[in-house]
Formats: sequence, structure tokens, C-alpha cells
Amino acid sequence: MKDCLFCKIINKEIKSEIIYESDNVLVFKDINPHAPVHLLAVPKKHINSIAEIDKLDSKQALELLSVIAKTAKDIGLDKSGFRVVTNTGSSAGQSVNHLHFHILGKRNFKWPPG
Ligand code: AMP
Ligand code: ZN
Repeated sequence: MKDCLFCKIINKEIKSEIIYESDNVLVFKDINPHAPVHLLAVPKKHINSIAEIDKLDSKQALELLSVIAKTAKDIGLDKSGFRVVTNTGSSAGQSVNHLHFHILGKRNFKWPPG
């Protein structure tokens, strides 16, 4: 989608540090990390947020979740634990309107979140 930051990253119009890429999914480093590991996993198809998950076909949606799990395992987060977050809408602080899952690890996290 035109004027979408993450679509521009997906299309390589904006540089990012890519960790994983397939036909449907991109995982890259968050530019402003809030943990020693802070990655973003996005579907290549533009949807605004998880509220529109039905716009992905079920195979794409499952691949996105599977990539999150596999990426966490590959970088050793599965043993210590990790957090997956998808901010949705203004009250949750979503600042980029392209579905993305934050993958955060290598530190302790508080619950409930702020
Ligand atoms: P959210 O606030 O949940 O919508 O998350 C958007 C995330 O995108 C933030 O954590 C930003 O640090 C991150 N971000 C913004 N611009 C870039 C960029 N050019 N490359 C990588 N991450 C970015
Ligand atoms: Zn987009």
C-alpha cells in the first residue's frame, strides 16, 4: 500500500535489518528496540491490524504465527521465554497501520503491561 512504512520496508524502498523472509512473511529488527531482542514480524500483504486478520487467507495467517515461533526458537528465546505483542488501534499505541507482531526477548517483562 502506498505511503505505508512497512510496505516500503517489504518492497526494499526503505532499508531494514532482515532476519527472515519468505513469499508471505518478513521479520526485521525494530529500529528502536525495547529489549535486547526486538523484532517485528509482518505479513507481506498489507492489512491494517489483527482486527483485519480475516483478510489473510488461513495459510498466510498460520505461516505468520509459525514464523514467529520458529524465529524465537532459532535465536534461543524459547527456553528463557519471550513476549509477542501486537498493538491494535490508538489506545494500544499502534503507530504503524500494517499488522506487525513485536517479538521481544532476552530480558524479564512485567505483567500487566503498562
Ligand atoms: P507500534 O507502535 O506497535 O505500531 O510499532 C511500530 C514499531 O515500528 C515501533 O516499535 C518502531 O520502533 C518500529 N519502526 C518504525 N520505523 C521503523 C523502521 N524504519 N524500521 C524498523 N522498525 C521501525
Ligand atoms: Zn503496509
